Amino acid sequence: MASLLILGGGTAGTMAANLLRKHLPSEWTITVVDRDDDHHYQPGYLFVPFWMKPSRVSRNRWAQLSGGIEHIQAAVSRVVPDERRVNLADGRSLDYDWLIIASGSVPRHDLIPGLSDGPLWGTKIHDFYTLDGARRLAEALPDFEEGKILVHLAELPIKCPVAPLEFAFLLEDHFRKRGNRHKVDITYVTPLDGAFTKPVSAKAFGDLLEDRSIRLAADFTVSHVDNDTSRLVSYDGRELPFDLLVTIPPHTGAQFITDSGLGNDMGFVPVDKLTLRAKADDRIFVLGDASDIPTSKAGSVAHFATELFVDNFLAAIKGEPLPNEFDGHANCFLESGRGQALLLDFNYDTEPLPGEFPAPVVGPMKLLKRTRLNHLGKLAFEQIYWHMLLPGKRLPVPLKMSMAGKRQPDTAQKEK
Ligand SMILES: Cc1cc2nc3c(=O)[nH]c(=O)nc-3n(C[C@H](O)[C@H](O)[C@H](O)COP(=O)(O)OP(=O)(O)OC[C@H]3O[C@@H](n4cnc5c(N)ncnc54)[C@H](O)[C@@H]3O)c2cc1C
Repeated sequence: MASLLILGGGTAGTMAANLLRKHLPSEWTITVVDRDDDHHYQPGYLFVPFWMKPSRVSRNRWAQLSGGIEHIQAAVSRVVPDERRVNLADGRSLDYDWLIIASGSVPRHDLIPGLSDGPLWGTKIHDFYTLDGARRLAEALPDFEEGKILVHLAELPIKCPVAPLEFAFLLEDHFRKRGNRHKVDITYVTPLDGAFTKPVSAKAFGDLLEDRSIRLAADFTVSHVDNDTSRLVSYDGRELPFDLLVTIPPHTGAQFITDSGLGNDMGFVPVDKLTLRAKADDRIFVLGDASDIPTSKAGSVAHFATELFVDNFLAAIKGEPLPNEFDGHANCFLESGRGQALLLDFNYDTEPLPGEFPAPVVGPMKLLKRTRLNHLGKLAFEQIYWHMLLPGKRLPVPLKMSMAGKRQPDTAQKEK
């Protein structure tokens, strides 16, 4: 009899529990701990301000676990690796033989002075990175007729780093459809020196911002929000006035990671980026957003990494070498408005490149190019998430990034 404890029953924790239940002997107990019973399809938050009903985003957390998996609804307060024990906030403690930390990342509005602690929060200042925030924004948008809107990315890493851009494009489309786009001035504010992190995609998204007449305020490192003058202020003294500010704040790991001495300065757990094994303890693996791996914090990453992790875990418990190496593979659709989306596919070493992404049945999907098929792929992902990804069913997508169909930037440049 051995025990596996999984901290966090979100995307990665649920997938890991369901996959491992199929492979671990029945005498193994698998227990998932989460503080609440509400599992959110977080990519849906993006659509809630525009058209998606908030209730569609959430389902019962425990109903996503297959038979033979136990669950405990409680907040984790500390991990004590030397004693292989986890303390819960309600005073209970749980022993484990092996531990998976899958506690995600937390948007921290409190880290920007004046953001959520001033009078403008919930009136002129909104977010869409929580369901409550997205719901409030859905209520506020219909009343916004004219003025300046800032869509603001505070810093990286955040969950789904393309979502702020997607929001800007959907917002632009929203006002275009309402007929008052000419009265609304939209600026995308970022600490990066361009629209995105890597050169090829930064150029593609920069061009798209320009095409949609969305201003770009780059190199903007936020210092605070001035609630008296409704201005976003940077450390180098720049001030951007707003009538509506939509901010994606800095993210950190869960508080218990820091309290357990397991986190870096942002509360993410340092791991071997190829095996996701915690550097501090061989009996701990970290899946999903909670680790410090240098790739996107995304459901797709959680998916590819968790599937590769299963064989590694089965080897680890036998004391054997780990057979699989995760390459940082991420695959994201970026909504660009007007019923289209772009597709990005990349890993630790290869930036998002143009070309084609082989997809069975529907045919190749265009990379870094706006298409209707990519948009339909993004919408279809909601059902894939609930019915295939979470239950641990195999998707027809390679777990490691493939160069098939991709074009190197110089080739792409010549072809233009
Ligand atoms: C607006 C938005 C759009 C997105 N769009 C996409 C997209 O298009 N494609 C994509 O791939 N990804 C997208 N993502 C990112 C994706 O949702 C996350 O990367 C993914 O859910 C991470 O999975 P996780 O298991 O690491 O964390 P989560 O799914 O967040 O789960 C973490 C769990 O840990 C629990 N937990 C935390 N602390 C404690 C504690 N102390 N005690 C007990 N339980 C605790 C939480 O309650 C939670 O259930 C998006 C995210 C957002 C916010």
